[in-house]
Amino acid sequence: MSNILIIEDEEAIAELEKDYLELSAFNVTVENTGSRGLQRALKEDYDLVILDLMLPDMGGFEVCEKIRNVKNTPVIIVSAKKDDIDKIRGLGLGADDYMTKPFSPSELVARVKAHLSRYERLTAGRTERNEIIEIRGLKIDKTARRVWVAGEEKMFTTKEFDLLTFLAQNPNHVYSKEELFRHIWEMESVGDIATVTVHIKKIREKIEEDTSNPKYIETIWGVGYRFRI
Ligand code: CA
Repeated sequence: MSNILIIEDEEAIAELEKDYLELSAFNVTVENTGSRGLQRALKEDYDLVILDLMLPDMGGFEVCEKIRNVKNTPVIIVSAKKDDIDKIRGLGLGADDYMTKPFSPSELVARVKAHLSRYERLTAGRTERNEIIEIRGLKIDKTARRVWVAGEEKMFTTKEFDLLTFLAQNPNHVYSKEELFRHIWEMESVGDIATVTVHIKKIREKIEEDTSNPKYIETIWGVGYRFRI
């Protein structure tokens, strides 16, 4: 359930907004001065703030600016004066929307819902989950570029990590050393095919229990390597 903060000094308006939002299953808190509203907005985690401009002790412009300095909470400004809308635009306060009083409460609810879903989409993108490969006790976090073997983290160089990840992503596929060299080292002039052998050896020392009998990266004699799944 989303939590909405209304900062509004006119009791009748605050009540009307609160009633309509509660009917749409929102949790609503009302503060009737700018400074108390700001304090609450900063201290608690609201999903959206509805902010009046003409407030006692601290105006809505200042409240909006101070919220924005710290948080990305969506802010919808409501104002009795049409002129304020130009001012809001001009100031670039970071308000997400504005409505002129009087407005229909159902329009307010519709806008609140629209902003909440937009904000959820934005934050969902930011907390995207890491891409992880897990095979028999070997865990590769591709996003964080970290590797664990039986729960213990192992350190890999960039090329070792790239080579291991490439093989693990293409299991049961036999690659020749030439192919692996092309895939991982691409156009780099450093090293040659022997580099692949050296890297495979180092990777095995980190991930295999018994390097003479590897269970992850197999040697296919005369051909190359294969990651077993
Ligand atoms: Ca007011």
